[in-house]
Amino acid sequence: MEDFERELEAAIQAVEMASRLCRNVQKELVDEHTLAKKDRSPVTVADFGSQALVCHLLQETFPHDPVMAEETPDYLYRPDNASLLATVTEHVRRLLPHASKEDVVRWIGRGSQRAAPRYWCLDPIDGTKGYLRGDQYAIALALVVEGTVRLGVLSCPNLPVDLNHPEGPRGVVFFCIHAGGAFQRPLGASSIPQPICVSAAGSGKEARFCESFESIHTDHETHQVLANKLGITTPPIRMDSQAKYGLVARGDACLYLRLPNPSTPDYREKVWDHAAGSILVEEAGGKVTDVRGHPLDFGQGPLLKKNIGVVATNGNLHPKVLEALKESAPFTR
Ligand code: AMP
Ligand code: MG
Repeated sequence: MEDFERELEAAIQAVEMASRLCRNVQKELVDEHTLAKKDRSPVTVADFGSQALVCHLLQETFPHDPVMAEETPDYLYRPDNASLLATVTEHVRRLLPHASKEDVVRWIGRGSQRAAPRYWCLDPIDGTKGYLRGDQYAIALALVVEGTVRLGVLSCPNLPVDLNHPEGPRGVVFFCIHAGGAFQRPLGASSIPQPICVSAAGSGKEARFCESFESIHTDHETHQVLANKLGITTPPIRMDSQAKYGLVARGDACLYLRLPNPSTPDYREKVWDHAAGSILVEEAGGKVTDVRGHPLDFGQGPLLKKNIGVVATNGNLHPKVLEALKESAPFTR
């Protein structure tokens, strides 16, 4: 295992703090009317707040590392967004009492979308629609060196610690270092991390798959065709965010399918939507490629330019899935 222990410690601390902010904002600003009003402001506050905290905490330990992140502060500078900046700052200050508005803008501005030989890759809130619905979302942070993910931390503040007991405690942080195995721990707890591994299922009959909740992000119809071909009989788990990678990594699902939606065939996946999740599945013993079986290439800037869609499996099922895909999806040829 490579020695990324300091990086891992800093990343977990940053993601844990960002998760507290996201939970606070969700508790206070999201209600049952948020969706009906099409009010996205809570997720905007949490997105900026989460990015500010993570960028700041990483900068303290690794001042020279760039952060590839989704948000830029330009929007916050606009005079009509002064109250948004005030709300973001208020939430950041609950966790870092000395933070000023200027600090918050500066920290967010550390995020850029430039490629670099070594960079942190951050999705401050992945699964924004799930966040607003009160379902699943994630804070995803990874370190990429020479186009390969070397460590990943994925916090899922709303995910049951045990999927079979959704009434039990919620909030999980998953983490791993390349070649060091994968772990989970209840969010905010100092308990000993529990090693996790993928399911041993070797056939579709034993398998369950997961896919995006939002149909526009993927191709539910072709996923079902594939599932039938593989002999999968249980209905899919539809879930927002990279929490799906967590499900595969700890064996709740054997397969995460992400075929491009036919209406956006040229869509290219964003690095921050897959960096942390994909290394987690691989470290748990699984396999992650695009729909043609190519490895994900994180060295191309903000987009996975060379890849189409994503397939994450427990490893055993990977060849069967790619074979089935060749028969049913035109873009694999
Ligand atoms: P999920 O929650 O797994 O459905 O994925 C959420 C992510 O989907 C967001 O972070 C977006 O970056 C991404 N996304 C947005 N539009 C598309 C699209 N047309 N196809 C695939 N992913 C998309
Ligand atoms: Mg995202």
